[in-house]
Amino acid sequence: MDGLPDPGQIWNDFITNPVVQLAGTLIVVYVVLLWLGVAYWAFRDMQARTENPILPYFAAALIVFFTPLVFIFAWFLYVVIRPRETLAEVYERSLAEESLLAEVEKNQLCPTCRDRVAPDWLVCPNCRTRLHRVCSSCHRLIEPRWSICAFCGTEQPVAAAGRPPVTTAAPNEATAERTERAPEASPLRGATNP
Ligand SMILES: [Zn+2]
Ligand SMILES: [Zn+2]
Repeated sequence: MDGLPDPGQIWNDFITNPVVQLAGTLIVVYVVLLWLGVAYWAFRDMQARTENPILPYFAAALIVFFTPLVFIFAWFLYVVIRPRETLAEVYERSLAEESLLAEVEKNQLCPTCRDRVAPDWLVCPNCRTRLHRVCSSCHRLIEPRWSICAFCGTEQPVAAAGRPPVTTAAPNEATAERTERAPEASPLRGATNP
């Protein structure tokens, strides 16, 4: 025994140990690969978030600039400052907004009482305004003001203005009701409008 072991000697033995050296090399290689991988990830991530062709290079350069030692901070920084939505998310959101808008437009309002009505209703159940007629020939819903069916070209009975609209009519009753129905020239002329 020659007294206490020398700490410097222990350290020297440790770092010159081939196993330790191999492990150290592998760790360094791993960190460098991670560094480059994160830089590439930032490049692709920015590509997905902007149409700007330059910004992805800036994102990758930010990671590279921070070196393998502290690139993790650049990674955090990038995640904080990157655009919040990807282009796919922006596109999806605009699609959703468009379909919402189409939905709102599809929900028609009664021209007289502004109540919500379905696009295939014949009359407004609230104020009895004529919304549609049924073609006497093809039995499809047509606009009250049409004098001819847009679908089959059949002449429609001329609207008798001033008469109150008929309350109900099913498509298969259309032919029978055709003479007695009094469709209005315009739904705005709802005679029963209070
Ligand atoms: Zn109405
Ligand atoms: Zn028709």
